[in-house]
Amino acid sequence: MTRTDPDSCPGVLRLHEAADGPLARIRVPGGLLSPTQLQALAGAAADLSDGNIELTSRGNIQFRQVRDAAALTERLTAAGLLPSVTHERVRNIIASPLSGRVGGWTDVHPLVAGLDAGLCARPRLADLPGRVLFTLDDGRGDVSGLGGDIGVHALDEHTYALLLAGKDSGVRLPTDSAVEVMLAAADGFLDLRDGQWRLHEIPDSTARLTDRLRTDHPGLEISAELLELPVHQDIPIGWMTQSDDRVTLGAGVRLGSLPARTAEFLAAVERPVFVTPWRSLVITDLDEWAAEQVVRVLAPMGLIFDAASPWLEVSACAGMPGCAKSLTDVRADVAEAVDSGRVLPTGAPGFARDGLDAADVVVAGRQHWSGCDRRCGRPKGSVTDVIATVDGYRIVPADPG
Ligand code: SF4
Repeated sequence: MTRTDPDSCPGVLRLHEAADGPLARIRVPGGLLSPTQLQALAGAAADLSDGNIELTSRGNIQFRQVRDAAALTERLTAAGLLPSVTHERVRNIIASPLSGRVGGWTDVHPLVAGLDAGLCARPRLADLPGRVLFTLDDGRGDVSGLGGDIGVHALDEHTYALLLAGKDSGVRLPTDSAVEVMLAAADGFLDLRDGQWRLHEIPDSTARLTDRLRTDHPGLEISAELLELPVHQDIPIGWMTQSDDRVTLGAGVRLGSLPARTAEFLAAVERPVFVTPWRSLVITDLDEWAAEQVVRVLAPMGLIFDAASPWLEVSACAGMPGCAKSLTDVRADVAEAVDSGRVLPTGAPGFARDGLDAADVVVAGRQHWSGCDRRCGRPKGSVTDVIATVDGYRIVPADPG
């Protein structure tokens, strides 16, 4: 596939003109936010946008209805959230959010920092399309199945598999060369591309890029046994004990929209917080007393600590009024479906239906609601589609897989 148009991914310095006003996207490599950064985001959301922090499926953040782009740029720069004006849109890095604290072979977060610094330090990599995604999986398999372009997947404490175009390339890397080889792969992608936005769009890209890497790095180890990388759908929710006996809390966020006021309370906890690719949060390094207080205060404000909540089954595109293509306000419709008990637990049978009023939509398990057939923001994996059409909602049951 050859594309002739440049990708139109928004950033902070290049806003997207959405139907409800300018939209800014802020890259958060590895999803990691310090308390100071979260406080800065809460303040900016309240003062300069519609008052919410939107979490994206790449663990990034969006502001809608931005009123003053210059002031937003200034605040984000001061908070360290815009370290490069040339590379801001290419810093799309997702990593296992629990890494180094709960489970996994190793801690991938130091590699995130190294990869981000390496990306920003190479002028040529500013030319990467804004759609390119890097993934770093600590071996638990939570982010490797999310369809990244270039990634690593830990096989043990010291070895990674190199992933290209979402698949195992067969290349095996020691920890100390993982960042260097990922950056070399990004450089190689630029050499191979002919307008394409994603690595998988380039014919035979994995084999061609692997050959290049082997030529440039003659010592690379190659395995004939390739990993399967299934999509992981378990969002980390609730209380988890860390390897150092402190506590991590996984918190769901209704439709991925975090009110500025809730973010302010979260920042006041003064612990690192991760934005996950499932539009949820992970609050880390708490002692037991603090973790109990977080649940006591933030659950009534809407954060979800109960893994059985129906809110964790649903996602939705921007819909009306944010998107001009939307046929309806899907987010209001899905919220009404949750509140009125029409989102059923996984396991109930699903049927294809057409022409339904919003109030008649009853769906079980993971479901994504879209304001038109483009299905923006649809999660990967087995998901039922609820799609607005001119004749009402259409239900396309999940492929069991
Ligand atoms: S799925 Fe359609 S309505 Fe929803 S955000 Fe995408 S283009 Fe807009």
